[in-house]
Amino acid sequence: MSYADFYRRSIEAPEAFWAEQAKLIDWQTPPQQILDDSRAPFVRWFAGGTTNLCHNAVDRHLVERADQPALIAVSTETGTEKVYSFRDLHAEVRRVAASLAALGVGQGDRVLIYMPMIAEAAFAMLACARLGAVHCVVFGGFASGSLASRIEDAEPTVVVSADAGSRGGKVIAYKPLLDEAIRLSKHKPAAVLLFDRGLAPMDLADGRDHLAAALMEKHRDTEVPCVWLDATDISYTIYTSGTTGRPKGVQRDVGGYAVALAASMKHIFDGNAGETYFSTSDIGWVVGHSYIVYGPLIAGMATIMYEGLPTQGLDRQPNGGIWWQLVEKYKVTVMFSAPTAVRVLKKQDPALLKKYDLSSLRALFLAGEPLDEPTARWISDGLGVPIIDNYWQTESGWPILTVANGVERTPSRFGSPGIPMYGYKVKILHESTGEELTGANEKGVVVIEGPTPPGFMQTVWKDDERFVNTYWKSVPNKLVYSTFDWGIRDEDGYYYILGRTDDVINVAGHRLGTREIEESISGHAKVAEVAVVGVADALKGQVAMAFVVPRDGAVLGDSQAALALEGEVMKQVADQLGALARPSRVHFVGILPKTRSGKLLRRAIQAVCEGRDPGDLTTIEDPTALQQIRQSLASQT
Ligand code: AMP
Repeated sequence: MSYADFYRRSIEAPEAFWAEQAKLIDWQTPPQQILDDSRAPFVRWFAGGTTNLCHNAVDRHLVERADQPALIAVSTETGTEKVYSFRDLHAEVRRVAASLAALGVGQGDRVLIYMPMIAEAAFAMLACARLGAVHCVVFGGFASGSLASRIEDAEPTVVVSADAGSRGGKVIAYKPLLDEAIRLSKHKPAAVLLFDRGLAPMDLADGRDHLAAALMEKHRDTEVPCVWLDATDISYTIYTSGTTGRPKGVQRDVGGYAVALAASMKHIFDGNAGETYFSTSDIGWVVGHSYIVYGPLIAGMATIMYEGLPTQGLDRQPNGGIWWQLVEKYKVTVMFSAPTAVRVLKKQDPALLKKYDLSSLRALFLAGEPLDEPTARWISDGLGVPIIDNYWQTESGWPILTVANGVERTPSRFGSPGIPMYGYKVKILHESTGEELTGANEKGVVVIEGPTPPGFMQTVWKDDERFVNTYWKSVPNKLVYSTFDWGIRDEDGYYYILGRTDDVINVAGHRLGTREIEESISGHAKVAEVAVVGVADALKGQVAMAFVVPRDGAVLGDSQAALALEGEVMKQVADQLGALARPSRVHFVGILPKTRSGKLLRRAIQAVCEGRDPGDLTTIEDPTALQQIRQSLASQT
């Protein structure tokens, strides 16, 4: 079947189309109603059906592939490598599930997972799925402040964590960060389950903290059956940044997600049972949920979980070829990474790409940020396999735009993530009139018309109103889902993404809200006002840059004082939000550019930082403000 026909069917006959895809997973009770959008924009997929993500990812494979590899945990931080078969994975997940149950976790309870990239993190996620508990994984690079706000919003019964993570050989103790986050949060979890890697000492809180090893040993042989859940029950929430300082809990279902992932593994990633999938992302991000843990396992593939930099070997010596070494060793067929990672590797000796036998590899998927042509060409030439750009969001759970080579081989175009995937009615609308732009290369907001396909977010956790108001009411006169990305479509239907329409920035493929960073900075006693913008960066795509109006004007003329305050501000952000959010520079100015109504002109600041024309400034209150931005950039280099 041609992809055009496949796509058309998904749009014109969604029930028949998705009923067929639903056969890719195991159901305890088959779905009674494929699509229910009677409460649009809320959509219920596969109502009446009961299933379980853990069953589909693990138990289901025990019949045919119990002894095949399921999870390959590699850490170049600790120099360890361990292969778990589906049978081993089943046993470990069961033990963690039994431990969580012993700590009071039941169906519908939340479990917050704050873990490094170790196998136990995947065990914990799958254990939650097994019990019907809602997991909420928080990226291990986040610090106490970010963690606290997520604990408060998710209200977990139990938090699962570890003594420490490690990055570039530097141990980062998690437990003190977690203790501080729990102290800051109004909600207190009843218990904390801790994996001790022996990297950092831990102080255990009496009655609250439990060592996983002891509990798991106690429940070594405890049977924990998968709880059959309604397809429309909640599988997990994952927090993502938006325009406000308060992150949103993106909530996902069980049945729709399982079907969407199974279908994407077949039609998009073209991965087969018995093969190996390697995604270099982190379980703290949506890619980690969909394409480190659930997607590959549902497809019966082995999945590699990698802890470490792409430039260090298992012997902990510099090794820019480690990923390719793993591709060779585990015969990886499908690989998934981010453009930033490739830009890091580009600095390595290109001969490293030729050193290993990469003949098993069929494609490298890249997502998370715009893929620039030089990077795409470099890696494409080096690997000799198709490089497949794919565009999606935490909210969608799986690719919105790419090519579906599992359906029909379709050429990619440099600079474009591709064409709309089945189930997605993607349109480009005029941002202020809401009118559809149908001409080639007309720039507008990329939107999705409902009903959104299976796997797409159900709502914002605990906040249906925010879901509707934030995502569905941002384009005037239309009830459509806004991606908050600018885009164009060329004459052949290929889309090009041109950056965000909101205050979200993308640092090394990680999504950050400038407002969150601003809130952290404005909490500093010496800061009067602050604006944070994303500025183009050759390696990371974007970096955060802060412009601060100090309370004490003397800082402006005193470079020593400015440097000291810059350091303090950077530290505050790193301590509260995590190193990822730390601005690359903090510049000091006497005034920030604002409209007469007091709105910060972030886009004009960003343009000045990138040496572009700041555009229409008729609404600016004080034009000298931009001059100050220019001067601060010139003087504080
Ligand atoms: P996240 O929710 O963290 O996955 O971030 C989603 C955002 O990252 C999107 O709204 C885009 O702005 C950006 N993004 C993701 N993938 C791509 C891509 N392939 N090309 C361009 N931008 C992308």
